[in-house]
Amino acid sequence: MQDSSSTNRGTNLDPWYGAYAARTAGLSASEVRALFAVASRPEVVSLAGGMPFVAALPEDLIRSAFDTVMRTQGPMALQYGSGQGVPALREHILEVMAEEGIRAGVDDVVTTTGSQQAIDLVAKLFLDPGDVVLAEAPSYVGAIGVFRSYQARTVHVAMDSDGLIPQALRETIAAERAAGSTIKFLYTVPNFHNPAGVTMSAARRPEILEIARSNGILVVEDNPYGLLWFDKAPPPPLRTLEDDGVIYLGSFSKTLAPGFRVGWVLAPHAIREKLVLAAESAILSPSSFNQLVVNEYLNTADWRAQIDVFRGVYRERKETMLSALSEHLPELTWTNPNGGFYVWVTLPPELDSKQMLPRAVTELVAYTPGTAFYADGGGRSEMRLSFCYPTPENIRMGIRRLATVVGGELDL
Ligand code: PMP
Repeated sequence: MQDSSSTNRGTNLDPWYGAYAARTAGLSASEVRALFAVASRPEVVSLAGGMPFVAALPEDLIRSAFDTVMRTQGPMALQYGSGQGVPALREHILEVMAEEGIRAGVDDVVTTTGSQQAIDLVAKLFLDPGDVVLAEAPSYVGAIGVFRSYQARTVHVAMDSDGLIPQALRETIAAERAAGSTIKFLYTVPNFHNPAGVTMSAARRPEILEIARSNGILVVEDNPYGLLWFDKAPPPPLRTLEDDGVIYLGSFSKTLAPGFRVGWVLAPHAIREKLVLAAESAILSPSSFNQLVVNEYLNTADWRAQIDVFRGVYRERKETMLSALSEHLPELTWTNPNGGFYVWVTLPPELDSKQMLPRAVTELVAYTPGTAFYADGGGRSEMRLSFCYPTPENIRMGIRRLATVVGGELDL
């Protein structure tokens, strides 16, 4: 054990305080995770977490998928498997991606332990300390945390209701290069953005790709929500416009269930080979059992119809949330997502959503403060509201409670 008074890698109650690697300085409990404990009290209406509404799943079908896997493929399910993932599942993944217009080969796909692990593997392959990752402002909290854990710097690029702003991307690249930064990739969530709830327009997609291509910057397209649209499908993924410069991430967490922890990466050949090596060194192989159960579900269930069920559930919840916001909080502004789980709310500038949170919890409602989604302290007067998990009735109750809190802060 060494003394490490110049670093802040742990608390000094921890006898190993001085022993941690420098990169652990970036590991902190996310504001979202810290909230789960409070918000999971039954009396609190949580508009905070992004938990999919798994109660809408056909439980019997899933149970019988487990049984069938054990009966017909038990020895394989219980064994180590391929580091790249179960081939039959990867075939199904091609069908899922084809729903959004993506064409690829089964060898191009690597299954992962959720797309969260895919983000981690991509970061591990590309990020050295001090490197820059470009990401929307705001961006997915779980990705920011991964980039920080590799000692990279997330630099936010402005977005509006049409997604990432091309001119802002050009200017950010130029400014970072002028400052001597090494930009490794652009991380983007083009569809039903977490947390902003907006979708990158069709017109902007080729433009964003062209900016990345002409600057030699890889694009990491994270698309866990693309199939969960309400009125019409989003424009085709960036990956349909460009094969070589895009790493595409997908997941069964939202279209099936996050408990399986099955996601995937579609990557250009050379990157894909390195991803498999990195995955093998991290976990040897993803869970054979879980992959086979998901595979069996896709074999036997009408999974497209199930996605339609989810769309209906989330559409109703979104509509309920927006109408409750209009009724109870007309002084705020918010995005109107056409899919996914989240609404992004902008408060009057004098309000601080993080400071207001304890008051909200006292009023039995929780949300995620905007600062969670920025690497640079932004988002003070913003918040993310999730409509995926609470019932419409609870959403209405939650927004009413939030209005009491905001009204109190504004002295209305
Ligand atoms: N990316 C985004 C944008 C997400 O919202 C999430 C989950 N909230 C993930 C990745 C990780 O999902 P999973 O690991 O469950 O696939």
